[in-house]
Amino acid sequence: MAMYLMFILPALILSIYAQYKVKSTFNRFSQVRSAKGYSGAVAASTILRRNGVNNVDVEAIGGSLTDHYDPVSHRLRLSESVYGSNSIAAVGVAAHEVGHAIQHQQQYGPLELRHRLVPVTNFASSASFPILILGFVLKSTDLILVGILLFTAVVLFHLVTLPVEINASRRAVVQLADCGLVTNEEVPMVKSVLSAAALTYLAATLSAIANLLYYAMIFMGNDE
Ligand SMILES: [Zn+2]
Repeated sequence: MAMYLMFILPALILSIYAQYKVKSTFNRFSQVRSAKGYSGAVAASTILRRNGVNNVDVEAIGGSLTDHYDPVSHRLRLSESVYGSNSIAAVGVAAHEVGHAIQHQQQYGPLELRHRLVPVTNFASSASFPILILGFVLKSTDLILVGILLFTAVVLFHLVTLPVEINASRRAVVQLADCGLVTNEEVPMVKSVLSAAALTYLAATLSAIANLLYYAMIFMGNDE
């Protein structure tokens, strides 16, 4: 247990910090109205049109921080606090989701890979833990190895997600500035909203890696 904490604690602390950071940054810049006054929905459709993406609909969805791009139905769903708001946070999040739509249109490699990994990852993330437990209980090295391999697939998914998210945020900042949706002074504010969000993905990746290392270490028999 002490050994497990040693592995997982840094990642755990980072995820708690990231949660706090994303919430506080979002709340802060939700209060700051963007100088141009465009709503998240208008910013999103403007960037889509400017990039020749004409087959994506922008719509509102309930909940908070539920914003996402759905590549299957070609829909960009923005939470109500983003869709109708003209805050810095709203246009930042909206532009980030458009970043994913543009990645999709341009067949951006890491995004394609991420889509292909989704079914495998869904299976792997639900099956790996029970199989690992069973392996340790039955002292079956074969089962433990299968569990570790499945968990490696989960880690791989996180590692692919990271560049996809960072790239979408990078596109968001460029597009917001290029389309004149935010002023130069507002660019750093948008960046801080989007880097806080990136931090949560980084924390998730690190915690998956820490878990994998821990399982591997037990497997090697070093947990005496
Ligand atoms: Zn994203």
